[in-house]
Amino acid sequence: MRSPFAILREIRRNSRRVERTAFDRVQDAGFVLFAFIAPLVVARMESLRVRETSETLVIARVFEPIDSRALQAREIAPEDRAKPWSGSVPMADVELVQRTEWRGWPLVTQHTAFATTTVATRTASCPASREAEALRAANSVFSRAQREVTADVTHNHIASWVFSSGAWWMMLSLALAAVLAPIKFGWFLYRRTRTVVRQSRIDRCHCPNCGYNAKHSILMGRCPECGSELYERPDVY
Ligand SMILES: [Zn+2]
Repeated sequence: MRSPFAILREIRRNSRRVERTAFDRVQDAGFVLFAFIAPLVVARMESLRVRETSETLVIARVFEPIDSRALQAREIAPEDRAKPWSGSVPMADVELVQRTEWRGWPLVTQHTAFATTTVATRTASCPASREAEALRAANSVFSRAQREVTADVTHNHIASWVFSSGAWWMMLSLALAAVLAPIKFGWFLYRRTRTVVRQSRIDRCHCPNCGYNAKHSILMGRCPECGSELYERPDVY
């Protein structure tokens, strides 16, 4: 029983040597270089690709009971905002809003949740002078709900960082390959054409370099016109 390594060695020994062209070396250099560049691109995308969302955490409805002048507030569900309000006078709807900024591409690699703010919408029956009072009533609801955030908090997403770096590494490598492909093809065509022309000149006893008819000077070994060697083998490609 032969070891798999011995088989692999034999396969390698009998395989045709694949010539590594300058194009392959450029592509390989790109692979290595982009592994270092990709994380820098991910970091740059955090400032280039920014999305902002805003979420209402709590809605407090401020109202004035019929039998009292002191404003009261109660938490309501978003779908209850349009419902009629019986037994009291609605004064304002106050929302506890949190803005969030999402940064990075293709995945979000960092997000910042900002401190919550309040947005008050007064009804027609609430004068501007009572807005501060309405906000105070709403704030008691918010502190009871415990959804208030007092400081901006930034989170980094490590897994997204790793994935985004890999994605950028792949995209940059593919872009390089797409740029190299037509150049490589053009070079291949040029080499093929050149080989065919030189071979046809050799077949007709002409100088492969300049095409001079060397039928009568073939024994000199050199072309009397350009001095290049006769009987030169064409480039094998
Ligand atoms: Zn010549």
